[in-house]
Amino acid sequence: MRVCSLFLLTAASVFGQAQYDLLLKGGHVVDAKNNVSAVRDVAILDGKIAAVDARIDPAKALKTIDASGLYVTPGLIDIHVHVYTGTGEKNSYAGDLSVAPDGFTFRSGVTTVADAGCSGWRNFEDFKDRIIDRSKTRVLAFLNIVGNGMRGGRFENNLEDMEAKPTAEMALKYKDTVVGVKTAHYTGPEWAPVERAVEAGRTAKIPVMVDFGSDKPERTLAELLGSKLRSGDIYTHAFSGLRHELGDDGKLNAALAAGRKRGVIFDVGFGGGSFSWPVAAEAYKEGFAPDSISTDLHTSSMNAAMKDMLNIMSALMAAGAKVDDVIRQATWNPAREIQRTELGNLSVGAPADVAVLRVENGSFGYADMYGARMKGDKRLVCELTLRAGKVVYDLNAISREDWKTLPKGYRYQGDPKWDSISPVRRGRGAVPTPVVPK
Ligand SMILES: [Zn+2]
Repeated sequence: MRVCSLFLLTAASVFGQAQYDLLLKGGHVVDAKNNVSAVRDVAILDGKIAAVDARIDPAKALKTIDASGLYVTPGLIDIHVHVYTGTGEKNSYAGDLSVAPDGFTFRSGVTTVADAGCSGWRNFEDFKDRIIDRSKTRVLAFLNIVGNGMRGGRFENNLEDMEAKPTAEMALKYKDTVVGVKTAHYTGPEWAPVERAVEAGRTAKIPVMVDFGSDKPERTLAELLGSKLRSGDIYTHAFSGLRHELGDDGKLNAALAAGRKRGVIFDVGFGGGSFSWPVAAEAYKEGFAPDSISTDLHTSSMNAAMKDMLNIMSALMAAGAKVDDVIRQATWNPAREIQRTELGNLSVGAPADVAVLRVENGSFGYADMYGARMKGDKRLVCELTLRAGKVVYDLNAISREDWKTLPKGYRYQGDPKWDSISPVRRGRGAVPTPVVPK
């Protein structure tokens, strides 16, 4: 097989243009938008999905990767991360508490993230220049209703800096990047942060994501989910249990089902302190799975119970979810929630952002925010990630030839048509091929 694909690589370069740049062969495709959960071949050309079929001839592709025994899914979409790093500000999500996206995304199959309110209208353009425009990961953003963004309590409790108008204006100015409005961390009794976020969201025609802040008797979950939020608005940290998501009787608060009936979206937002097994397990028992899975990635969640998207997806499988469910909740569902329906699917013509995942069977464990474990017998692992049709992560080098089969004195392997890892320019000054810009 290796000899065969090496021959094809050579054949394509000797005999001219291949019909496809890359072919993922024999994987189990899970594409919720197109209702596909079956073994399919996926062909890619110029960074886009070019064909999905039961059998596509490898002779038509410059490069073929054997994906048999693996899941082939749209690149995962994590709609709750914190990536406004690099400003040098201490104890701030617009600074040291954020992480650089590319170091965390591709290795877990994630190709798109949405920053959840690290910046507001006052500092969004700095965030865009510093991180969004310089990352290989597709970085989108929820604008904080606080003009200064997530810079700490002094800023985040200042009602005077929560203005709907400039927030909506900034969102509309960058509508390719700003996908929503965020309200978070508010400790006062007023509804103003939620109301102004919704007002901005209504003006800019984008959803609001709510971190419901401190638990206050004046602001009930029933009122938030029953009347304050609109259909399509997102309640994140859904399984934290910190705001009466679970009643004293051990049942889910009826406000959650009532909110879902109105079209409110429920998102995981696991984070450092927002996922409790008693809440999540009861939710699954009552048939209340999350609409979307997200990490709430930041410096104090990255190495804690949360870890990454695949760890959360695996944890939810331990709670009873099927692999197709968690893939849908990490691809097509979040794409629709942020109104980016060109993403999260493998339709012909869609950006070729793809995750190739392995389900490992064994003895695993998944902790919650309090450090309590749920045992599981499956774990999802990322084998390969494509961003805009190019390999950006390859755990077991499945896109590579065995070195013993290569000619003596071989140098850089790969081709800029499908490879964004290896330096392909020969000789001195070799640099990795950049992925196609956003
Ligand atoms: Zn967060």
